[in-house]
Amino acid sequence: MLPYHTIEEAQIELGRGLTLAETLWFKYSANKSDLVLHCHNTLFLCLFYSIAPIPFALVELCRYHKLNKYKIQPAVKRSFWEMFKCYKNVMEIFVITVGPLQIISYPTIKWIGIRTGLSLPSGWEMFWQLVVYFAIEDFSNYWIHRLLHCEWAFEKIHKVHHEYSAPIGLSAPYAHWAEIIILGIPSFLGPALVPGHITTYWLWFILRQLEAIETHSGYDFPWSPTKYIPFYGGPAYHDYHHYVGEKSQSNFASVFTYCDYIYGTHKGYQYRKQMNKKKSTSTSIAQTYKTE
Ligand SMILES: [Zn+2]
Ligand SMILES: [Zn+2]
Repeated sequence: MLPYHTIEEAQIELGRGLTLAETLWFKYSANKSDLVLHCHNTLFLCLFYSIAPIPFALVELCRYHKLNKYKIQPAVKRSFWEMFKCYKNVMEIFVITVGPLQIISYPTIKWIGIRTGLSLPSGWEMFWQLVVYFAIEDFSNYWIHRLLHCEWAFEKIHKVHHEYSAPIGLSAPYAHWAEIIILGIPSFLGPALVPGHITTYWLWFILRQLEAIETHSGYDFPWSPTKYIPFYGGPAYHDYHHYVGEKSQSNFASVFTYCDYIYGTHKGYQYRKQMNKKKSTSTSIAQTYKTE
């Protein structure tokens, strides 16, 4: 909750006028507790997973021939009811696991110093913090994901996420409740080490989830803006990990490719790409598994 009752009080405290964004933030957050603002992440998750996967779901259901060539595993077709069942499971996970986790983690969020007040962060501050959050999350997620592929952890926990050998956008957070908690640690680590404003914290979770939806979408569109991000893995990269399943020793990273290259866990995927190139001069990555 902001320590000012009016915009004028805030202006006097800051010693300057408020920007448009700060005025909007004042109007939105002035009467909301920090706990309520913190719990917005659960609302965002429910909202974004209800909207963002829709274009991919429509492409999957319509099977428009011009887009079909971008399907990574074209032999697998998902029905409306399969997707709806996945959506229902994911929403249950958000309400039963993520919601309580947000409330439990609130004292930690206060302790690490994520601020809710004025002034708002600049665009540069947000950008660099997001870059750091992505780098920290990617590195720590890589190692936890590798550990989840040891026999015991895979059988008891990670197997659930791998039920989708051909993933869909909605299946990104489809996982055992323990995995949701364990992989929540890398997501919190960045904001914990480099605390910023809660709007940056929200944006971080939204971008990370949008990335996860695209990565699990099952389609590799060449016009995706993420193609311009250096070292970005993308849908075909993570799809291969799901395709191989339990025995996968390749493509553990969540967002970028550099960890897999540094630690040598990109070889299976590289080999598969080379084999497909030999088989067809016109092979696109979207046809990676067609030639099985
Ligand atoms: Zn895995
Ligand atoms: Zn996955």
